[in-house]
Amino acid sequence: MKKVYFTPGPAQLNTAVAGYIKSALDNDVCSISHRSARFKDIFKETTANVKALLDIPDNFHIFFISSATEAMERIIENCVERSSTHLVNGAFSERFYQIACDLKKEPYKIEVAPGNGFYANNLQIDIKSELICITQNETSTGVSLPPDITANLKSRYPDKLIAIDIVSSAPSVELDYSSIDCVFFSIQKGFGLPAGLGVIIANERCIQKSISLQEKGLNIGSYHNFPALLEQAKQYQTPETPNVLGIYLLGKVCEKFLHTGISEIRQCTEKKASMLYNFLDTHPLYKPFVLEKSFRSPTIIVAETSAGSAAVITKLADQGYIIGRGYGRFKYNHIRIANFPANSIDDLRCILHHLD
Ligand SMILES: *Cc1c(COP(=O)(O)O)cnc(C)c1O
Repeated sequence: MKKVYFTPGPAQLNTAVAGYIKSALDNDVCSISHRSARFKDIFKETTANVKALLDIPDNFHIFFISSATEAMERIIENCVERSSTHLVNGAFSERFYQIACDLKKEPYKIEVAPGNGFYANNLQIDIKSELICITQNETSTGVSLPPDITANLKSRYPDKLIAIDIVSSAPSVELDYSSIDCVFFSIQKGFGLPAGLGVIIANERCIQKSISLQEKGLNIGSYHNFPALLEQAKQYQTPETPNVLGIYLLGKVCEKFLHTGISEIRQCTEKKASMLYNFLDTHPLYKPFVLEKSFRSPTIIVAETSAGSAAVITKLADQGYIIGRGYGRFKYNHIRIANFPANSIDDLRCILHHLD
């Protein structure tokens, strides 16, 4: 039986991926030089499609790296001299904070319990903090922060940089780029692609910050520091031999999403999310983990199960449906269901039927 993945990542592949991989092989994408004109064309096409799909303004640069975790490290290295502030409400936001600690910075943490979000008006950012790090969609707990949080913070703290993790909410999330300096994602979640590529979208303020740190003699990393990435990106290249196949596939999948239309993708995501939450809200055996409705993620749905997660997961697996178990200490009592563009409404109906 062919399995269907409603896991939070790696996730169900986009149905078109097999065809794209075949065309990549037919066109020698995995053998061409990463300094060739053909590679530059792939780089150009993918960055143009990513910009169009996510509606990214022209003053942002697009950098290819290896993962979202790498993005966290690069952003701290290049945008922080001493202190960043982290909104922490689960494992991925905690990871971002921990990376700042590992890099010997002195980060601040504003923490709420798992399952909770942040109210922008209540947030007080330390004057010494240079960068505010936000995990827009906390994949470990299914909490999504209303994207207007960045506008609020930017208006109150215009001198601070703002970085936002959209790994498990892209491409459907709608951002206000005028209040953001840096965004990142990897491609094995909502884009429905094989893992191994991360994308950083950074504006000129981030570049200037990293140059100023470099001029002060501070460590901003080596081949993947922002000035090095930018110098190469200007020539439609990368410092190292990159994941050319991943870059190619991302361009193709964005082209497909553009063809569908981002508003159609958003509507479909909302529709499937309401089906899931309505089911969980009314079923005696399940309860959405996130109680505050405005914080419920449309793309990662987390539920408490009175029967225990293992029984539910096994039952669905017997039907060919793979869903996620709880993250960390919630392993045994939570289930996590992804709602990405590659997860079809018909499969979702079957999952709800079996959950019942
Ligand atoms: C999966 C995930 C990451 C890590 O992504 P990698 O590509 O594995 O490094 C970071 N942040 C969030 C919110 C995620 O869901």
